[in-house]
Amino acid sequence: MLKLPGLIDPHVHVREPGQTHKEDWDTVTQAALAGGITMILAMPNTKPPIFDASTLDLALASAKEKARCDYAQFVGAGPDNAHIAAELAPRTAGLKMYLDSTFGELRLDDMSLWLSHFKKFPKGMPIVLHSESRSMAAGILFAAIYDRPVHIAHISLKEEVLLIKAAKEKGIKVTCEVCPHHLLLTSSSPIFSENGGEPGGGWGRREVRPRLATQEDINALWANLDVIDIFATDHAPHTLEEKDSDNPPPGFPGVETILPLLLTAADDGRLTIDDIIQRMYVNPKKIFHLPDQPETWVEVDESAKYEIKTADMHSRCGWTPFEGWQVKGRVKRVVLRGQTAFADGKILVEQGYGQNVRSRL
Ligand SMILES: [Zn+2]
Repeated sequence: MLKLPGLIDPHVHVREPGQTHKEDWDTVTQAALAGGITMILAMPNTKPPIFDASTLDLALASAKEKARCDYAQFVGAGPDNAHIAAELAPRTAGLKMYLDSTFGELRLDDMSLWLSHFKKFPKGMPIVLHSESRSMAAGILFAAIYDRPVHIAHISLKEEVLLIKAAKEKGIKVTCEVCPHHLLLTSSSPIFSENGGEPGGGWGRREVRPRLATQEDINALWANLDVIDIFATDHAPHTLEEKDSDNPPPGFPGVETILPLLLTAADDGRLTIDDIIQRMYVNPKKIFHLPDQPETWVEVDESAKYEIKTADMHSRCGWTPFEGWQVKGRVKRVVLRGQTAFADGKILVEQGYGQNVRSRL
């Protein structure tokens, strides 16, 4: 039996408020616990987006009532909320800035809008950028100009990991995360589901931002694992009906599959258990200034081999891009603040057991 610390996922789309048919604070935190994750940081592109005190209160009220694991909530950078976001900072996981198009309405097109957020958001609090390719390079330049840390969400390209490596060597305060789907799936990987093949060619299921890349990109990420600070899921649930529709939204669920997929990669010799602990506990805790979770750990049966199946998942979205994958390493038990929260496939803590880690400051 392998004992791990309670894992932290700093990139989760809860979908509440506004889209609870996809997921809510109850189902996402059940899924997280089942995946060995005891703390999630929630993204702000909900409906409405989280960009001021009243929307932050709305999300935190649902979380307080329903969450079963610990959490914090990001505030989103909008065109005119830099002052408000800075004031709210201590109550948030950090500031999320969307420099490229994705799901939701928070994109900042004009760099003059970036300026006010970089100037005003407290330097001790993290800014997370959704920024791909050249806008990532622009984001790193902002980190250098304002001499403050930025964290680049979900990098996926060879050019991105190489530029971050060079920026780190220059002493620029940039960190980054990679998601399992960008380490394991290419743009041509078939994606099946429990109920069979890929209707309409299944292209909708492959929709994710950043898009799945090439084998060359994947190889560059693996070859530069030392540049990658965090493994995060970008858990972004949409229902299978939505994914198979004519207008499929981008995003994959991920909190229940990240650990078995990485443990399997460790078993294959592609990384070590310590690499996983550094990137799913030590570094996220440091980068996002997260508190200890006392008496919290995850027990894993390292030798258990099984197949990933939607039927075993707790997420409301009802599918996984890793359906049918053979993995090695099963989460057996999760203890959160002294209580067994998950054991042998069952969630054992009530709604509301989760704590807002920013309210304990
Ligand atoms: Zn995301």
